[in-house]
Amino acid sequence: MKVLVATEKPFAKKAVDGIKEIIEGAGLELVLLEKYTDKAQLLEAVADVEGIIIRSDKITAEVIAAAKNLKIVVRAGAGYDNVDLAAATERGVVVMNTPGQNSNAVAELALGMMVYMARNQFNPGTGSELQGKTLAIHAYGNVGRLVGLKGKALGMNVIAYDPFITDEAVFERDGVKKMNSVAELYAAADYLSLHIPATAETKGSIGYELAMSMPKGATLVNTARKEVINEEGLMKAMEEREDLKYITDVAPEMKDAYAEKFGKRYFGTPKKMGAETAEANINAGLAAARQTVGYLKEGITKFQVNK
Ligand code: NAD
Repeated sequence: MKVLVATEKPFAKKAVDGIKEIIEGAGLELVLLEKYTDKAQLLEAVADVEGIIIRSDKITAEVIAAAKNLKIVVRAGAGYDNVDLAAATERGVVVMNTPGQNSNAVAELALGMMVYMARNQFNPGTGSELQGKTLAIHAYGNVGRLVGLKGKALGMNVIAYDPFITDEAVFERDGVKKMNSVAELYAAADYLSLHIPATAETKGSIGYELAMSMPKGATLVNTARKEVINEEGLMKAMEEREDLKYITDVAPEMKDAYAEKFGKRYFGTPKKMGAETAEANINAGLAAARQTVGYLKEGITKFQVNK
């Protein structure tokens, strides 16, 4: 059986070596397609493989149709909006992500971006401190929880909203106040840290009204996905309220307009970099290899996202 590692943006060498060891150690064959520039290369490489490991690479219906033997796709990372789940499910192909493996990297970036914004993007002038401010976590999953715990260590007052976590003890254990609605969360947020996945429900869901409801001087921090923002709506709010700030990994579609209109009240990373640490890269790559082997050899479906 063959496992393809298809990465437009390759894993670190240490991760590739580890993946190779895991795949070949299980008696499977590893095929590497790195830095490909053309969809045709991907379509050709998937033709006879049983498993595919990807990063932000797009697994479309066309790719799935071209992969006649495909049984599993593992996205080394948390978000899996780059995989056509419906097409995979229709073909009986299992799709997994590797939750938690890059969470610390993203959480550190989120806190780092807050400090950067609080200190005028490291320009001269009087900034402010995070201690004592209210940090509101929108979605208390792997990343959100770590941001909350790190925020607490900095002396922030941490509150969170996640309608899918019904067990109050999850919040109580961390000393985080559970909010009952999105409206309540935003209305109390000095820093609003976004950790919702990009889904049909969440895309474009954060815009004018929520931004306008935030307290004076509030900062919206987006290390989730740019697609969850209604860019025009947020822009309108920031035009009307000169105290609002927006910082995002990665830059919005309307990045030039944001940069021009809002100067130091806005910052967007040129490329998505939340998970771009050596540690996260290796952790996610190795987990993806283990999960691929686990499914192909033993049928283990833990972390399947299209059940
Ligand atoms: P996760 O699956 O551990 O947590 C997601 C949380 O979102 C869950 O607790 C879920 O209950 C909650 N949720 C889902 N829909 C919601 C909604 N409509 N409203 C409120 N909460 C909702 O995922 P994670 O590892 O914490 O990552 C979160 C997101 O961050 C990913 O989906 C991905 O889009 C993004 N991400 C970005 C980077 C980056 O490089 N910037 C890296 C990793 C993850």
